[in-house]
Amino acid sequence: LVCDSKTAPAPRVDYGRMTDFSTMPDWVSYQSMQNAFQRDKIFADYYFLPRSGRMEAEIDTPQGRKLLFSGYNYLGLANDPRVVEATQRAVQIYGSHAGAARMVGGEIDAHRELEQELAEFTGHEDAVVCVSGYGANVSVLAYLLGKKDLLVHDNLMHNSGIAGGVQSGARRMAFPHNDYDTLERILAEHRDHADRVIILVEGSYSMDGDIADLPRLLEIKRRWGCWLMVDEAHSIGTLGETGRGLAEHWSLPSSGIDIVMGTLSKSFSSCGGFICGGKPMIALLRTYAPGLLLYSTGISPANTAAALAALRVLKAEPERVARLQENSRMFCVEARDRGMDIGDAAGLAPIVPVIIGHDMKGLRVASRLFEQGVLAHPILYPVVPRDSSRIRFFITAMHEPAQIHHTLDLLQKELAD
Ligand code: PMP
Repeated sequence: LVCDSKTAPAPRVDYGRMTDFSTMPDWVSYQSMQNAFQRDKIFADYYFLPRSGRMEAEIDTPQGRKLLFSGYNYLGLANDPRVVEATQRAVQIYGSHAGAARMVGGEIDAHRELEQELAEFTGHEDAVVCVSGYGANVSVLAYLLGKKDLLVHDNLMHNSGIAGGVQSGARRMAFPHNDYDTLERILAEHRDHADRVIILVEGSYSMDGDIADLPRLLEIKRRWGCWLMVDEAHSIGTLGETGRGLAEHWSLPSSGIDIVMGTLSKSFSSCGGFICGGKPMIALLRTYAPGLLLYSTGISPANTAAALAALRVLKAEPERVARLQENSRMFCVEARDRGMDIGDAAGLAPIVPVIIGHDMKGLRVASRLFEQGVLAHPILYPVVPRDSSRIRFFITAMHEPAQIHHTLDLLQKELAD
């Protein structure tokens, strides 16, 4: 059958509008947001704000030097001379890219070195490293689960975990944040109707700065025959005496967590994602999970070397973790002393939300802080429920106590106004 433009049937409707991006529903809300910013003179320059130098406790921006509480460089390793030098050396040795998917020509020896050291660090048998944490969550969940399975996740789970669940085709159910009684009720009702079940939580939560109750989760996953997957994007390098994450914090063997997901883009001051677990699971993921190593290029030599060097500095200098934890605790104690609402944050995670309430007030307070030299981003609806806007502070080991006091003083003044 030959069907060219002369013989093909004519379209019955004009599809032209559907090729116009401005008919996308988000375009309407994007424009009304921009209009509201202009109409109400809301300052929004701190979004996509370019930094002209390194990410330290302070950064250089077009609006001048700002004290930064919006960075993932938790341990300050991005600028460590050993990390910078290892990154440069890797480019000299391997060139700029991995060159291909790892299975078919893109493997460098540093990939395996990093994986083995990550596995040893987290107390697991093996690990696999890929180009993004987001991608790791999506690929792993989409590969491990299918239509007959169930994903039960905390309702504050990061979007990448949800996206993986959706892609897997598994039934997906959320339980209220840290509400393990409801998790049990869900399992009591639905466990029998599913083959495999993954309970998915974060080690420490990026919106609320609180942590998961691992002892309780282990008990539940054993009782109901589930896999436990923990996204440790924010907890590795920050939780536990030596930064080994959630299991170390609770003084439990890490092998109880079946699937540890992590990112290289936070404490490890690089870019990429990883999964740690038992040898069979890692072998399966390495070989069969689309998007992890399969159909995706290997993580770059520079990113691999940066993460490996950062991991080695972290192991050699656990005092960085102690400093980070001390700063987080100090921030929480002093914020509460000043009457601020920081939810359940207790200084265990390096994330402290100061809950402001009305969205416009959240924006106004963040703008005033920015004008006075402090950069911390407001988080608004729909990322958090309406009118529970918050300014989220990422604490690092680089912050000095005086910088924390100063910031809280400014904030207290703004909240009183
Ligand atoms: N999980 C969580 C909890 C995160 O916060 C993030 C990123 N901020 C990711 C996964 C994705 O990691 P990556 O940035 O490496 O893609």
